[in-house]
Amino acid sequence: MNLILLGAPGAGKGTQAAVISERLNIPQISTGNIIREALRSGTEMGLKAKSFMDAGQLVPDEVVIGIIKDRLANDDCENGFILDGFPRTIPQAEALDEMGVVINKVIDIEVPDEIIINRLSGRRVCEKCGRPYHTESLKPKVDGICDDCTGALIQRKDDQIDTIKNRLNIYHSETEPLKDYYEAQGKLAVVDGQGTVDETIALTMAAVEA
Ligand code: AMP
Repeated sequence: MNLILLGAPGAGKGTQAAVISERLNIPQISTGNIIREALRSGTEMGLKAKSFMDAGQLVPDEVVIGIIKDRLANDDCENGFILDGFPRTIPQAEALDEMGVVINKVIDIEVPDEIIINRLSGRRVCEKCGRPYHTESLKPKVDGICDDCTGALIQRKDDQIDTIKNRLNIYHSETEPLKDYYEAQGKLAVVDGQGTVDETIALTMAAVEA
């Protein structure tokens, strides 16, 4: 099954994608994670993407389309995949279609902006393993330290309030039109992402299996 997860930054795409990936045994492909990894290893692509990412802007289409082309060519995508954070613009969706990639379903996780702002401004992530936490709703056992790997918890640069608002504006203008794009292809399923992680997982899985 070839799936896309749509939704604003902070709607919970990453968490949902990880669960689907495990249950359906298909890889989760997150362009955000691939770019952050490239940045950590200091590759040219990572350095090019850094200024866009830090400012909460989208990385240029040709860069992310190149990343996805390479990643989808991997053997582990043969039985399906779940795209998390791609496509984010109409040209990116068109590029997938032009590559001949058949998408079976697009799950759109809907969360109002006020909730997104609260979630993202309180989000902290482990510097080492990437595990997410929240200053109010998902605290670590020891303040500032990851429960799993004892890495330090940090705030992503793009989770600062002005950048969050910028990312939301870009989401509404550039990414939200993808809902109509996939609705027109008869592939869109909308899921309410305001509940707890488990509630949203149940709704997402039902949409995947429908
Ligand atoms: P994410 O972790 O999915 O929120 O992505 C973090 C940042 O990576 C975004 O704010 C963009 O700067 C960049 N990025 C990730 N995926 C894409 C994409 N499909 N198109 C453009 N930029 C992207």
